[in-house]
Amino acid sequence: MPKYIITTGGVMSGLGKGIASASIGKILQSYGYKISMVKIDPYINIDAGTMNPFEHGEVFVLDDGGEVDMDLGTYERFLSINLSRKNNITTGKAYKIVIDKERKGEYLGKTVQIIPHVTNEIKKQIRTAAKGSDITIIEIGGTVGDIESMPFLEAVRQLRREEGPENVLFVHVTLIPVMKVVGEQKTKPTQHSVQRLREAGIQPDFILGRCEVPLLEKTKKKIADFCNVHQDEVISDPDAESIYEVPLILEEEGLGKMIAKKLKLKAKQDLKKWKQLVERMKNSKETITVALAGKYTALGDSYVSIMESLKHAGISNKCKIKIKWIETEEFEEDPRNLKELDDVDGLVVPGGFGSRGAEGKIAAINYARKNNIPFLGLCYGFQLAAVGFAREVCGLKDANTTENDPKTKHPVITILPEQYAVKEMGATMRLGAMPCDIEKGTLAYSLYKKERIYERHRHRYELNPDYIDTLESHGLKFSGKYPKKQIMEILELPGHPFFMATQFHPEFKSRLENPSPPFVGFVRACLDRKNRNT
Ligand code: GLN
Repeated sequence: MPKYIITTGGVMSGLGKGIASASIGKILQSYGYKISMVKIDPYINIDAGTMNPFEHGEVFVLDDGGEVDMDLGTYERFLSINLSRKNNITTGKAYKIVIDKERKGEYLGKTVQIIPHVTNEIKKQIRTAAKGSDITIIEIGGTVGDIESMPFLEAVRQLRREEGPENVLFVHVTLIPVMKVVGEQKTKPTQHSVQRLREAGIQPDFILGRCEVPLLEKTKKKIADFCNVHQDEVISDPDAESIYEVPLILEEEGLGKMIAKKLKLKAKQDLKKWKQLVERMKNSKETITVALAGKYTALGDSYVSIMESLKHAGISNKCKIKIKWIETEEFEEDPRNLKELDDVDGLVVPGGFGSRGAEGKIAAINYARKNNIPFLGLCYGFQLAAVGFAREVCGLKDANTTENDPKTKHPVITILPEQYAVKEMGATMRLGAMPCDIEKGTLAYSLYKKERIYERHRHRYELNPDYIDTLESHGLKFSGKYPKKQIMEILELPGHPFFMATQFHPEFKSRLENPSPPFVGFVRACLDRKNRNT
């Protein structure tokens, strides 16, 4: 029978509850337990697929094609596990099932209510996601006191009663602000948020105090006195240099051992390998600068998986990564701005949709191609690299993707045939992990060292098979292909220091303990360029 740890949030969102939850998972995994992770998002969307990354952060894609909250990416990166769409529960998902059942008459004339029908459905979904694990960590999104999270708090309150206190425990992640003038750590907001939690019938077992600095003993004592926990159950969770340090910090505070004691688990600590990786990251002396040509550059959260993948690849190459955000519209306004790229060590063009900035991205990719700047294109980056190459090298002047110019004379990128009839937006793209066969002797093969890989997808358009011969005869190489149909998955340019793009999103499978091969190769090429230039 799985045991459950539930994390709730206090005072405000954006405290790093996802990182705290993943860190608890990592500690318990290091004790030898099989961990699963669940994120609860109290919004009415069925999944995150239709949400704007600018508002809500990146849409993360799972092996099974689930389009989910970005916290699932954090869980996978910390724990090196593959989750499924069942691990992201939303209000929409729970209510849809209940309402569909009601329409089918399955409630036999009963009045259908939040308690017990919705709460029962939530518990059922939690138990399904926990199947096969020793411990499942459930993070409840939002902040305690929000109207929309109430059914979820009620469901987990019931879960504790049903499973028993030795099988379910609560961790409340809250903010301890420091008043700059007096330098005092203030506990009042935490007292209030714990009060709200207790009104919902939940007494936290541990309180994790997120603070700029480590919590003072007197702060811990105050929280303990007011919130009905022991002083050592108030855990200091200060800002860290790297998110990957957090498991080490929490373990140092004794959190893992105390959880193990309460849940009657055996604590056999082994975060050694993790610690080595974190130290390697912190001690890296070199730094490379990577231009990231995105659309939502004002919000780093929109590209979190790419940024983390670069960091992971940085560890294996012993270097740190500095991101230079590039709004490619500036290249459209004045092509002289492309010179900015001379000062970076490499260019990443991430996934994206639509025409805003697309011409600037094509210009940037062509510039990187002609000036031997390492380039990594991801999904849209793959498509625009092919368009740019067709225009400049194959002489197909008005080549384009039909996404941006439906009437182009040279539709180098076209809609996937299976997408013709698609009308709804939610969960209808080509999604999830799919096989890709890699040709031996290529750059892709030298990085993956495998003939068949599985990477995750999220797109509606593809390279038009009618243009494969033209592009290849002009020097572009399609080194990875989908084995079942003629879908091009990886392109590269032999002779260039590093020019590679993938139709899939390798960033969704990069882990601290297992970095993604295209990123490792790209970062290595960036370092080479930097060392050559200095
Ligand atoms: N807009 C492109 C498509 O739908 C690329 C999508 C992406 O980059 N994820 O195919």
